[in-house]
Order: sequence, then structure tokens, then C-alpha cells
Amino acid sequence: MGYRIGFGKDIHRLIKGRDLILGGIKIESKVGEDAYSDGDVLLHSVVDALLGAISEGDIGELFPDSDPRYKNVPSSIFLKKALDILKTRGYKINNIDCYIELERPKISPYKKQIQKNLATLLNIDENDVSIKAGTCEKMGEVGRGEAISAYSLILIEKIEEKQ
Ligand code: ZN
Repeated sequence: MGYRIGFGKDIHRLIKGRDLILGGIKIESKVGEDAYSDGDVLLHSVVDALLGAISEGDIGELFPDSDPRYKNVPSSIFLKKALDILKTRGYKINNIDCYIELERPKISPYKKQIQKNLATLLNIDENDVSIKAGTCEKMGEVGRGEAISAYSLILIEKIEEKQ
């Protein structure tokens, strides 16, 4: 009782001249996410999962890229707003499981750092954040190195009301 789950998925094109940002961490890469904001594909999927868990629509509805306020902003501001809504609705995060899909560079050296930063951003324990990554075995747009995608599954829990 009092549990809800949410799922989020995002994909961005990878282009030259942009930073590759994952979970607020800059990754050494020749290409980065093409986006209106900083393009943090992982945080976008987390925001979508959070909003999904409380049936509050999606990131595109809440933060439209037609809004000049969101040009090149760090995606942590989207996350903060989604967390505010979650809190207002009386929920807290139980745990989150994330999967990043990209061909290169290797994410393993950054996994711990991403996990740590995401836990800080979500204000939860590191052990409640899982970061996984894999390639697409050279298949499709991700496999050709043209895109990066991320998936997040989140479990939220109703905060007990005080007597
Ligand atoms: Zn996105």
C-alpha cells in the first residue's frame, strides 16, 4: 500500500560541439547531446519517471523547449521542480534503477560518480540508486553512435502522515 512506480525514457542525438552530460556529470567525449537544455538524457528519463509515478504528465509538457527560460539550463532544475511536485503530493522516493544506452565512450569509469551525484540530487541514499550502462551492439541509431538513450524506473512511497 502507498507505493507507486514510474517509468521514463529519453533519447538525444549526439553531435559535435556539445558536452556529454549524464546525471549532472560531464563525460569525456567527442560528441554530446543535441538539446535545448543541457540535454542530460539520464536526468530527463529520471524526471519523466518521477512525473509518471504521480501521473503528472511528462517533461515536455512541464518544461516546453519553446520556453526561453530553459535554453541551455542544467537539467537538475527540471529534477528539482519534479521533486517539489512529488513532495507536495506527499511521496518520497524508495529507489531508482537507471539504464544508459550508448556505443561510446565507456561509462563504467563514471558510474560511481553518476550514482553519487544522482543520489545527492534526489536526496536519497547511494544504495537506492542503480546506474547501469550498455551498448546497442552496433545496431540502430544508438549503435551507430548517432544517439544516446536512457531508461529509468522509480518506486515512490507515500510519506506516513503524522498523528
Ligand atoms: Zn531529453
